[in-house]
Formats: sequence, structure tokens, C-alpha cells
Amino acid sequence: MLLRAVDVFDIYVEPFIHSGFRLPNQPYSYYYRSLFSLHNETLSIWTHLFGTIILIVQAFQQISQLSINLYSTIQCIYIIYNCIGACIMLLCSAQAHLFHSRTLADHLRSFYLDYFGINFYGFTSGIILYRFSHKQKFSMFTNETSYYLILSFLSLYSLSIACFCKTFYRRPYPYSHKFLQCSSVLILYLFQIWPILKNIFFTFILYDNNQELIKFEEKALFWHLIQIISFILSGLIFVGRVPERFCPGLFDLFGQSHHTFHLTIFLMSFSQANAVFEDMHSMSLNNIQYNLMKDILYTLIVLILELITVVIWFRISRPTIERRYKIDFKNE
Ligand SMILES: [Zn+2]
Repeated sequence: MLLRAVDVFDIYVEPFIHSGFRLPNQPYSYYYRSLFSLHNETLSIWTHLFGTIILIVQAFQQISQLSINLYSTIQCIYIIYNCIGACIMLLCSAQAHLFHSRTLADHLRSFYLDYFGINFYGFTSGIILYRFSHKQKFSMFTNETSYYLILSFLSLYSLSIACFCKTFYRRPYPYSHKFLQCSSVLILYLFQIWPILKNIFFTFILYDNNQELIKFEEKALFWHLIQIISFILSGLIFVGRVPERFCPGLFDLFGQSHHTFHLTIFLMSFSQANAVFEDMHSMSLNNIQYNLMKDILYTLIVLILELITVVIWFRISRPTIERRYKIDFKNE
């Protein structure tokens, strides 16, 4: 049995989706079983689960293609590192779609984990791009530590803003909600992609002849371009909510914009991994500078800080949101 949007709390409902809601307050097994039945979250969950499998296969393929050299073990570790970051993002989002409509507490917990996944990948991707894809002449930061610190700060800032928006805004969301939510992710993304954007601009738009590109570099820039286009598309799709905006209720089970959004997010991480792999090839071995311990240490610190942020926000939000819906319930 599935419910209509009017039968569940508005916090569980996405705009223009009118039906296909699972029952709230059921045991966890009900939601696990719902993986194999059709409701308005089925496709959103499976797009991420399939995406995760493809990213893992991609990482294995890349590792098998690495030529044996002094650095192949370390390149292998960075490929796995990048894959873990992307898979965490997809899996955190998949669990949010699976459990968010169970109880208010589950809704908050699963969404905050989703925000954590997005921003943690924002951090790990920033590290990978810095190591392999930022060309020195386009880079704003010659000082590695300052880049790492700003990246960590932006990732934490973006996570906190997402949790803040969830706590203090409610539907129908005002314009400031979208602005805050999107701008913080955009800043985190722009910060790490800026040197690559400049590289693409000089190579493909200004046709800078001084830029002698080797085959791998050209391939890498092509994949970076796909990655950037996917990111822009995902933002537009997320905000636009087309096609359900024009036929509310018609795309609840199949074809709602969130399904396309998931595909573009997957395509973004898939092409980012391909781009970084090509960049690994184009670096001359003498130029490779790794600081694996530093990268792992920063990643662990950011991971712990982000999990603490999620716990703190959960403690702040839960009573606020539960009080809000209790009052609503009494007024009905
Ligand atoms: Zn989603």
C-alpha cells in the first residue's frame, strides 16, 4: 500500500510529487524490503547503488591498467582513495532515500549523512585534483597547506549550511534557502575546479599555442569538461524540477528530475575519476610529488570533524523539528 503526499508529513514530500509514499513508522525491515518494490524512491536508490558498482569496477579497471613503475602502488592507493570518496557520497545518498520517511529522527539522521557524503567527497575530490590535475601555472595556491586548510573549511562550511537549512527552513522554501544551499556547494566546487577551468579556457578557447598537449593531457581535459558539464547540469536539474513541474503527479515513480539528477551526479564522479587517471599518466615520473601521509591525516581529521558536525546538528534539529510537527499535529 502506498500513500499520497497529503497523508504524510510535508518534510517527507518533494515538490510536485503527489503519490507513491511508503508508510511511516514501520520497522527497518519494511524499508529494506521496499528496495524490491515500486514506490517514489525506488529509482533514486537503485541509480546510486548501480552507480557505486560501476565506480568500483572502474577503479579495478584503472588499477589493472597501471604500468608497473616506482609509483604504481601509490597511484593505486590514490585511485582507491578517490573511489571511496565517491562511493561514500552515492551510498550516503542511497540510504537517505531509503530511510528518510520512516520517522522525523530518521529523516534528519539520513539527510545529514547524505550532506556529509556530498561534502566529504567535495574534500577528497579537492585533494585528488590538487595532487594530479592542477597545473602549477594555473594554480592559485603555491602553498599546499593553505589550499588544504581552505578546502577543509569550505567542506565543513557547506555541510553546516546544509544542516542549518534543514533545521530552520520549511516548505514552501523561500529563495534564500536555495541560494544558501546551492552557493555553499558551488564555492567548494569552484575552489577545486578553478585551475582546471583556466586550463580548459586557455587550451580550447584561446588555443594557447604555448600549450603543447600530450595525448593523455588532452584526454584528461576532455573528461574534466564532461565532469564540469555534468555538475552544471545537475545543479540546473536540481533547481528546475523539470518535467514534474509541468505535470505534477505524473512522474512520481518514473522520470522525475531527481532520477536525472542522480545520473548526472554519477556521470560527474565517473568522468572525474577518468580525468584524474589520465592526469596520472601525463605527469612525468620526476614531477610526481606525493605526501600520502599528509593526505590521509587531513582526510581523517576532516572525516571526524564532519561526523561531529552532523551529530551536533542532529541534536540541535531533532527537538526543533519534532516540536514543530507535534504542534502541527495538534492543530489538525
Ligand atoms: Zn538524491
